[in-house]
Formats: sequence, structure tokens, C-alpha cells
Amino acid sequence: MVDLPANSPVAQWVMLENTTDLPGFRRAARDLLARRAPPEHVSWHTRSTPTQDLFADPADPADPVVPGATSAMPCNGNPPAINVPPEFLTLCETVILHSDPNRFGLLYRLLWRLVHEPALRHDPLDADSVRAQHMAQAVRRDMHKMKAFVRFRRVQDDVVQSHPEGGPLHMAWFEPEHHTVEATAPFFARRFTQMRWAILTPECCVEWDGGRMKLGPGASKQDAPPADADEALWLTYYQTIFNPARLKLKMMQKEMPKRYWKNLPEAQFISELTADSSRRRMGMIEQSPTDPRRRVPVFVEGAAATVRNQTALALSRMQRGESPKTLQALNAAAQACRACPIGQHATQAVGGEGPLGARVMVVGEQPGDQEDLRGKPLVGPSGQLFDRALAELGWDRACLFITNAVRHYKYEPRGKRRMHKTPSQLEVAACLHWLEHEIVLVKPQAVIALGATAATSLLGRKVAVMAERGQWFTRADGVRVLVTLHPAALLRMPQAQQAQAYVAWLSDMSKASDLAILPLRPEAVKQVPE
Ligand code: URA
Repeated sequence: MVDLPANSPVAQWVMLENTTDLPGFRRAARDLLARRAPPEHVSWHTRSTPTQDLFADPADPADPVVPGATSAMPCNGNPPAINVPPEFLTLCETVILHSDPNRFGLLYRLLWRLVHEPALRHDPLDADSVRAQHMAQAVRRDMHKMKAFVRFRRVQDDVVQSHPEGGPLHMAWFEPEHHTVEATAPFFARRFTQMRWAILTPECCVEWDGGRMKLGPGASKQDAPPADADEALWLTYYQTIFNPARLKLKMMQKEMPKRYWKNLPEAQFISELTADSSRRRMGMIEQSPTDPRRRVPVFVEGAAATVRNQTALALSRMQRGESPKTLQALNAAAQACRACPIGQHATQAVGGEGPLGARVMVVGEQPGDQEDLRGKPLVGPSGQLFDRALAELGWDRACLFITNAVRHYKYEPRGKRRMHKTPSQLEVAACLHWLEHEIVLVKPQAVIALGATAATSLLGRKVAVMAERGQWFTRADGVRVLVTLHPAALLRMPQAQQAQAYVAWLSDMSKASDLAILPLRPEAVKQVPE
């Protein structure tokens, strides 16, 4: 810090280390208060923007860029303790990330006034406080938009050649409005912990190698990679799920402001899709209604006596301690299971599907509406997203064994529709033995747990999916379990987050690629005949 001549319009010149130097700001503000320097006598600067103040004269001999002219200003003795509400510190942490060059001056003026005008803390309409609150809000919005609108693209960089197990680098270009990159980066580290990623921005770049975060200087858009195969898939997905009947243009533009569109690949379709939306909506209205789908309960009195006898027999054998020797026997027994109330209302029990030689078993939560009607696991909307992921991973569904933690569909009737209900812990526990029998029969080398219900059943403990996703765990029987999200969780996310979440989900599942792409185990197919 430098004292300027007495006739200067400003008496103190503070140079902070960088645009978000909160410790430097706090030190300087404390020292300035101790010197009783009124806010109008202080001029604030950062090293990256040394001449942003209109009154600044870089040729001035008191130019703060000279060595030592930093915020570490000498003052007489220890500066006194300053008593301000804790919310003010939180406000400083956020406002300092704003791009307005006057933010330091505003914060110091607020600090000065909090110390000298005790009534200020009770005046929510004070102009300085309101302005600072608006700036904090703009910063939070900018951080939120970065979380939603960063779009990663895969890059096969040098590291992936030498260490393929770390997977490809995922790189994104983003242009924040404020200095929010460093503050937002930990969110990406938590969300994409297992993935190598880098976010390039004009002001600074941040990189995560799976364990450590590195900050570097800014980059230009040309440094960002071109579109990759994931992106083509994402664009197809975006166009397919666009629902003209649900379009609210103003709301959409509020959520996805136009200034972000230039870096969002899907934005190229917005005008076309919205222009066509009224025609498509009219088409939907004009279509004649479809008949409600038939729901055929398996246990119709008299109609399915043979099935009933078989299932009852299979179940009673199991109850006597005889393990089913085949998947057919297991599935037949499950049809008769009423260990919990779900089975009363479902169309049928949905057992696992796939070959006995499968090296990888995939476990979902429970059958959904379509699975319940068709008697097959993962064939509804979640299954379609899962199939898309398989195509992208290069896995063959026919080589996987796909099943669920719970056999029957639990739902709540709402009009003509049946809405999914999460099974209770007791219901999941009652179903566990079906899944364990399947593991014994199929003998997979690895199991992918889709979501918390599957992970909890398989590992016998509560699993925090977001914290443990992408990681392998070994069960007492030696079977390895890879935890990841359920596809329904991706489908439920706000659209703006889906692209990223999808890439992270693929990255989780790709950890099982070594096994999933291998052909079936021939010895297992031979051992246990169907
Ligand atoms: N969700 C699941 O968990 N499994 C299915 O089979 C379908 C939807």
C-alpha cells in the first residue's frame, strides 16, 4: 500500500495480489481501518488490472506496481479487532468474485460504515447493502450456470496413451461472467471424482487428474477440443426428448440465458425446435386417444392353474431349503412370492435375464411399469438410456445378466397411470434372497449396482451413491461390485445437467469395460444347463 500526496483525490492505494485476493483484501481493510482511512480516500487495484481505476495514473511515481506497494501496509502496532456480523464475511467471500472493479471499494465502504454506523446492520434497504447483495446474487447465479452449462468433450491426450486406466481427458470451454472458476471447480471435482477433466476459460484454467486440482493461466476457445462422439449422441438425445407440449420459451431463456448459447452444442437446435413446436403440439392434440394398456394379472382364478401349481411347488421347495438349480425354477418360484405386499398388485415377478456365462451382472432397483407388463428387466425408459450407454461403451447386452434388487413393481395408482414408488427397506430385504440365488447361479465376476437400492442390497450396508460412485467394492463372496447412478436418476435431472451427468455415468460404467467386452465364460455355460 502506498500513501499518496495530501492533495491527491485518493490518499491510499491498495494493490491486491489477484482478482480474488480475499486474504489480501481483509488484511488491507483491517489496516486501513486502524489508520482511520475513510473509504473515499482509498483506491483499490489488483495486479491483473492495475489501471482499472479511472483516477489512476500508471506513470505516477506512486504507482502501486512498484515492489512492496502491496496490501501489506505498515501500521502502528496491531490493528484492533473489528466486530462485524458473520454474514458480512460471507458476503465478502462472494462479492469479491464479481467482475465489477468497484467491488473492493464497495466492500470497504460497507465495512467502514458497519464500524461507524451501528444502525446500518438493521437497514436491509441501504443502497450499498442492496448493491452488494445483488452482486453476490449475480456471482451465485454465474456459479450455478457454470455447473449446468459446462459441456465436456473427450480428448485422447498423451496421458491416456501411457496410462489408459485413467481414461480419456474430458475437456470443456466455458466463459464465466465473473471470477468464479476457482470457487466452482470443487463442485466438478466432487461430481466427476473418477474422471480426468479440464475446464478452459479466458481468465484461468482448472484441471483435475483424479486426485489433485491444478489452476493455470487462461486459454482461448481454439485450445478447446472439437465435438466428439458423445456429443453427437447427446444432440440426438436432446432432440428426441424435446417435448413441444411442455415448452415455455420465457422460462427456458431465463434458465438458459442466450449469452451461454454459443458454447452449448444443443443450442443450435433451439430455434428450429421451438419454431416447429406449435405444429407438433397441434399434431399431438389431433391424434386420437389410445386405449389404456391391458394389465393382465398372472393369478387370474382358474386361468393360470398350471403356472400357479408350478410356482407354488418351486416356492415350497425353496422354503424347505432346496435351492433352485436353474434360473427358470428360480423365476417360477418368485412368481408365487408374497413375502411382502408388493407382489399382490404387480402383474408378475420380473426375474433376471441373460446368459449363465455372463461375466458382468447389472442390478437395477425394481421393474418399472413397462417391465412389469413385459416381464423383462430394464426395457422401459431407464432401459432405453441404459441401452444407449451400452452402445456407446461397445458392450453387447446379450453378454450381460440384467436383473433387479426387487422382483415386483411397486407403484401408486394415479388416474390411469401407475407411478413408481421406492420400495421400503423391509421389502428390499425380503427380496434379497432372489438376487443372491441369481448370483450363485450366474457366478458373475463383477456386478454393476445401478443406484442406491441395488448397491445397498449387494453390499449389505447403506451406500451413498454420489460419494461412492465409480468405485469397486469386494463382497465377502469375492464378487466385485461397481457402484453408479440409476439411469432414472439421470432422466429426472434438469435438462441442463443431463449431458454432464451422462458423461460421468458412462465414465463410471466404463470401469467394467475390461470384463464386459469379453465373450461369455464357456465353462459356466456348460456347467449349469437351463
Ligand atoms: N428400473 C429398474 O431399476 N429396473 C428395471 O428393470 C426398470 C426400471
